Order: sequence, then C-alpha cells, then structure tokens
Amino acid sequence: MTPEDEQRMRFVFALRQKGVMDARVLEAMEKVDRGAFVKGIFSDRAYEDMPLPIACGQTISQPSVVGLMTQALSLEPRHKVLEIGTGSGYQAAILSQLARRVYTVDRHKRLVTEAQDAFDALGLSNITALASDGTRGFPEQAPFDRIIVTAAAEDPPGPLLAELKPGGIMVVPVGQSDTVQNLIKVTRTETGFDYEEMRQVRFVPLVEGLGSD
Ligand code: SAH
Repeated sequence: MTPEDEQRMRFVFALRQKGVMDARVLEAMEKVDRGAFVKGIFSDRAYEDMPLPIACGQTISQPSVVGLMTQALSLEPRHKVLEIGTGSGYQAAILSQLARRVYTVDRHKRLVTEAQDAFDALGLSNITALASDGTRGFPEQAPFDRIIVTAAAEDPPGPLLAELKPGGIMVVPVGQSDTVQNLIKVTRTETGFDYEEMRQVRFVPLVEGLGSD
C-alpha cells in the first residue's frame, strides 16, 4: 500500500467513525481529492478531519460535516442542487458526483474563480459556479430538488425555502455566527415545511450582499 492509499483509507475511516455511512457518499469522498481544494501551507493537512483556512477569510468545512450534510440530502442522480457558499468548491465537487447538476454561489468572486479552476482541473463539468448573494436565492434556475447552505443563517432564508420543490430537502446551519449553531434539515411537504435538528456545528456567517474581492 502506498502512503497515499493509506492516507485515503484513514480519511474514509474517520468519516465512518463520525457517522457518514452512506456508501455512495463515502465513495464520492474517496474519489474527490480534497487536496485539490486546499492551498499553500495547509495542503499537507487536507486529509485530516478538520476545517482549514482558505482565501477571503473563509474556511473549507470539516470533511465529516461535508459527509453528514451530503448524506442528509439523500441525493438522487436526477437532482438539481443549489449550494450557497462555494468557498473552496470541495462540497460542490462531492455533490457533483451524486446529482445531475450543481449550481453553487459565493459572495466572493475570487473564491468562485479559484473553485472553478479546481473543477476544471478535476474534469467536473456539471457544476456551475457564480458570484452571487445567496440570501436572495437563485431565481434563474429555481426550483431545486435540494439546497445546501454552508454558512450560518439566523433563520433559514425565505427566498431559499421558496425555491425548494415539494418533497425537496434543504440543509442549513442556523444560529448566531459566534456561537455553536444547529444543523437543520428542512423538508418541504405538500402543505408546509418540516424541521429536524441534526447536530451542533460551527460555520462562518451568511453575509448579505457581494464581497469586495
Ligand atoms: N462549502 C465550502 C465552505 C464554505 S465557507 C467548501 O466546501 O469549501 C462559507 C462560504 O459562504 C464562504 O466562502 C462565504 O464567502 C460564503 N457566503 C457567506 N455569505 C454568503 C452569501 N450571502 N451568498 C453567497 N455566499 C456566501
């Protein structure tokens, strides 16, 4: 076994230990190299189960949290998915393995450009990344089968709830940015919305408006 194989095995083992059990999610996370989304001095820690700093003062999420959020979405190959908070692009890359089409938006143009470069390098062609304020939703492509928000909102944003198809699922961290937040799974029913608390998490805040870089 090469050191790379061993590193990958340990990576998947850590995901399982934290409750990522869905075989398709594990397969996607084994396949997509997280190292392609982490730059500079932190790149040698890409296979550890921890969040890491990226450009624009943001973070790439902890792999086990990426796994648990992806698992909660119960993705099917025909799904059209919206992600708010492209960041490094890693979460979008995982989604791209499990859904037909992924739209991902970030308020920082620089992050979108760098994520797009990583998608191109890995040959991931079913992701559309755009600089946009996700708190307003993404009306151009709505409605969506699944929505994932990877920044903490004080409440699930109304425009996003409105863009969820009936039967659709949204996963969103809810709470103040400087404290522990709750990861919420929202399911749209024929008559309204069901809310299920999943676990405590810590995300950077969802901020209204576009960033300056
Ligand atoms: N999913 C990312 C991690 C995201 S960190 C990954 O896999 O690496 C949260 C991201 O949300 C940051 O990049 C931040 O710029 C973005 N963000 C915050 N508020 C936003 C908003 N209103 N619209 C779009 N993106 C936003």
